[in-house]
Amino acid sequence: MSFSNLGLSNEIIRAVTELGYTKPTPIQTQAIPAVLSGGDLLAGAQTGTGKTASFALPLLHRLSENNNIKSSSTGWVPIRALILTPTRELAAQIQENVYDYSKYLKLKSTVIFGGVSISPQKRQLKSGVDILVATPGRLLDHLEQGTVNLSRVEVLVLDEADRMLDMGFIRDIRRILAILPKQRQNLLFFATFSDKIKELAAGLLDRPTMIEV
Ligand code: AMP
Repeated sequence: MSFSNLGLSNEIIRAVTELGYTKPTPIQTQAIPAVLSGGDLLAGAQTGTGKTASFALPLLHRLSENNNIKSSSTGWVPIRALILTPTRELAAQIQENVYDYSKYLKLKSTVIFGGVSISPQKRQLKSGVDILVATPGRLLDHLEQGTVNLSRVEVLVLDEADRMLDMGFIRDIRRILAILPKQRQNLLFFATFSDKIKELAAGLLDRPTMIEV
């Protein structure tokens, strides 16, 4: 199995090849075609399995295929993909990966998390961002201040959803979900399955592909 067999574009394959990825990991082999097809996904995977690329690569492929939406020059440019993750370290790591994977694409990404000044994040968001990686609390701060536009989100990723639930983010997540467009693709990743994950998945996902590695 190779990345090109999975249906990813040459621009994406070039970027991952330069990073030294020679072949997809098991979760990537399973998740990439499912995400490319546009359906929802429920995936159980630990960190270190290549799970970030398993959602980021097909997400980037889909956004770049349909990249002709012209944004207005005034106001806050809408985000097209939202990746929620529990900690600032994970958020920074995911954004770094997304940045590397999108090297040959015309897509911009940024990261927002708490514990640092909000002003530079506002400037970033104002400048136009396609893919936003965020921790839930800081995203809500931006929503309250009207400095992020989620009205056009096409893909939502909940990364380490079990950890977000354990950290008490469920109310924040529900508030964010309520703002998102109803028509969108949802990708839910967890490390350990639980009744809480089952409940979240049941309310969020439409006939998901299920993967566990
Ligand atoms: P993750 O599970 O997403 O945290 O990824 C773990 C590490 O594996 C990261 O350093 C990735 O850059 C790397 N990685 C992801 N996919 C591949 C691949 N197909 N081949 C080699 N390394 C990879």
